[in-house]
Amino acid sequence: MVEDRRAAMEAVLRKQRSAHHQMRPEPMNLRRDRIERAITLLKKHGDDLCKVMAADFGNRSPLQSMITDIAGTANFGKYCLKNMDKWARAEKRHVQFPLGLLGAKAEVRYEPKGVVGILSPWNFPVNLSFGPLMQVFAAGNRAMIKPSEFTEKTSLLTKELIEEYFTPDECAVFTGGPEVAAAFSELAFDHLVFTGSTATGRKVMEAASKNLVPVTLELGGKSPVFMGESADFAKAGERVALGKIMNAGQICLAPDYLYVPESKVDEAIHGVWEGTAAMYPSLLDNEDYASIVTDRHFDRLQAIVADARDKGAEVIEVNPANEDFSNTNSRKMPLTILKNVSEDMKAMQEEIFGPVLPVKTYADIDEAIDYVNQHDRPLGLYYFGQDSSEREKVLSKTISGGVTVNDVLFHVSMDDLPFGGVGPSGMGSYHGVEGFREFSHARSIYTQPKIDVAKLGGFKPPYGAATEKAVKTMMK
Ligand code: NAD
Repeated sequence: MVEDRRAAMEAVLRKQRSAHHQMRPEPMNLRRDRIERAITLLKKHGDDLCKVMAADFGNRSPLQSMITDIAGTANFGKYCLKNMDKWARAEKRHVQFPLGLLGAKAEVRYEPKGVVGILSPWNFPVNLSFGPLMQVFAAGNRAMIKPSEFTEKTSLLTKELIEEYFTPDECAVFTGGPEVAAAFSELAFDHLVFTGSTATGRKVMEAASKNLVPVTLELGGKSPVFMGESADFAKAGERVALGKIMNAGQICLAPDYLYVPESKVDEAIHGVWEGTAAMYPSLLDNEDYASIVTDRHFDRLQAIVADARDKGAEVIEVNPANEDFSNTNSRKMPLTILKNVSEDMKAMQEEIFGPVLPVKTYADIDEAIDYVNQHDRPLGLYYFGQDSSEREKVLSKTISGGVTVNDVLFHVSMDDLPFGGVGPSGMGSYHGVEGFREFSHARSIYTQPKIDVAKLGGFKPPYGAATEKAVKTMMK
């Protein structure tokens, strides 16, 4: 069965690559047309896609999906249309003296790679398939997409729509579980973009290495929030709540845990509590509040809370309407704040990826910096406060994929900023010119002048005085 699927995927890859070679360098108007079709697909079928996402999650606000998956992604396509001519321009580079005077030329051309594989997760299933696709197309590539098995209805509709709007040699979708995903990641693509967990990212990189396929890994991790003494805790709490509760915390960049001054811990928790209650006065019948995607994911989150409670954490549920969650099968769970956490708790060991928020305290900000540096490099890092020297200290002493100051998540929504992780939170990035370059091959082109440069430079045997002179000049 998987072997049949593998053979089918290989056949499409061959077809796409051969079509690509025929159309190389894939004219700009054709690339534009593909992006425009992707935008039209999102505009025309956005409502249907939001409906199936809601069905896949059990509950997920169609309006939230409109912002996060449909409009935001279409808008990113428009940003690509606006900038792609500039991105695709060849760049002149410097040639060493005196070659320039003799007529030598050097340039870099950003050329399409060929066929790019896109492996996407379930949490923003449309955004994380179509977002990379916009830049894959802008750079003149063709694409094969394998969406997540956890959002099956969305994946099936995505496949149908892609088949309606694109020929199979431009873009094709393959659905299926982890076995199909594993076979997909072994294909000899010209580039592979994977968005998902760090654990699966490791497997994907290993599979891609068999064919030396270059990879972009958009992974996860524990993104910390530093709250400085000078933070406005009410405002910070509201902003953390928004970023933590959207999609019920199932966001790669969600603030994973708070790090607050010892003396401000209750103020910080109160800020988050108030912020959450103001946006979500009730939860169970509230369409704005998303469900956890599957029973398995729900059970994992419950286990994280139980483990923290057993090991001595204070558990604070933000349940403003005092609703009873024990007798529902909605897979909804209130934001659960964990106070007095310790390192032996699962909550401090795994990426949370749900509505659970551990709060750690520090006596001195250096302690918090050291803690973050002793753990995996995070995808996002957040600083709240008005103290610019403290902010610069936090930023310059730590490493993370990206940063938002005085809020959370927002850096990912800046189209012109590269988005990606570092080390265990990922490698490579897209968005901005960096995304175009990620899916392009930077080809160096040097043009030799008529004059015999090798002889002039002393590189041509028999070696002698000219060679010695060249060596001396280089070593000066
Ligand atoms: P996941 O790693 O379980 O799955 C992602 C994709 O990998 C799915 O399409 C799945 O079919 C496929 N897959 C499963 N097993 C595979 C294998 N052996 N080989 C190859 N592919 C395989 O991730 P998820 O649960 O869907 O998503 C949640 C994770 O994704 C979180 O860790 C989150 O932080 C991360 N994430 C990162 C970003 C980002 O942009 N950095 C965005 C969203 C989610």
